Amino acid sequence: MVRASKEEIEAIKKFFLENYKNAKTELKYKSLYELLVAVILSAQCTDKRVNIITPAFFEKYPDISSLAKADVEEVKELIKSCSFFNNKAKNLVNMAKTVMEKYKGEIPLDEKELVKLPGVGRKTAHVVMIEFAGANLMAVDTHVFRVAHRLGLSDAKTPEKTEEDLREAFKDHLDIIHQGMVLFGRYICTAKNPKCEECGLREYCKSKENFKAG
Ligand code: SF4
Repeated sequence: MVRASKEEIEAIKKFFLENYKNAKTELKYKSLYELLVAVILSAQCTDKRVNIITPAFFEKYPDISSLAKADVEEVKELIKSCSFFNNKAKNLVNMAKTVMEKYKGEIPLDEKELVKLPGVGRKTAHVVMIEFAGANLMAVDTHVFRVAHRLGLSDAKTPEKTEEDLREAFKDHLDIIHQGMVLFGRYICTAKNPKCEECGLREYCKSKENFKAG
């Protein structure tokens, strides 16, 4: 696979910083608690689906202490339209219990502490830190993975290695670039039928010939 040159990486970075500088997650939330719950729910599930589930969820469990006391079966019932809802329900309640017992009810805004919580992996912790704290971190979901590969920014087989490639390529403003790559992947560089004709990164793309748009 052809890799992007240093100049191309700079141009791609500039594109995301200029076009997505105010980009935020499409998950709806009003607090760190709500964001963390929404991001946990969003694993293998669309943001759209999560946004349908969370209003009733936050009405029933408005804060970390109410979730810590929740009945797992009732949580399952509320989130059952989400993939992996059995595990997610257990993780959500255990996450809340851990925050109450080990962090005095305060969700830690630190990726090294967040990953110690049940159900919170590296990607979830990074997404929360990027969105809530503007942290200089990268998180690789299905959109970021696809865009990174099509643009020749990485040829890695795993999200972890792709994250490393993106971190080394861009170095700073990773939060804005992450948010930009998610939205760009969701609406322009889609998995099927990407909108190559209206893509602002066409000249740097290593894949567009595959979509008969070159
Ligand atoms: S030209 Fe097409 S495939 Fe390439 S980055 Fe743009 S939308 Fe994606």
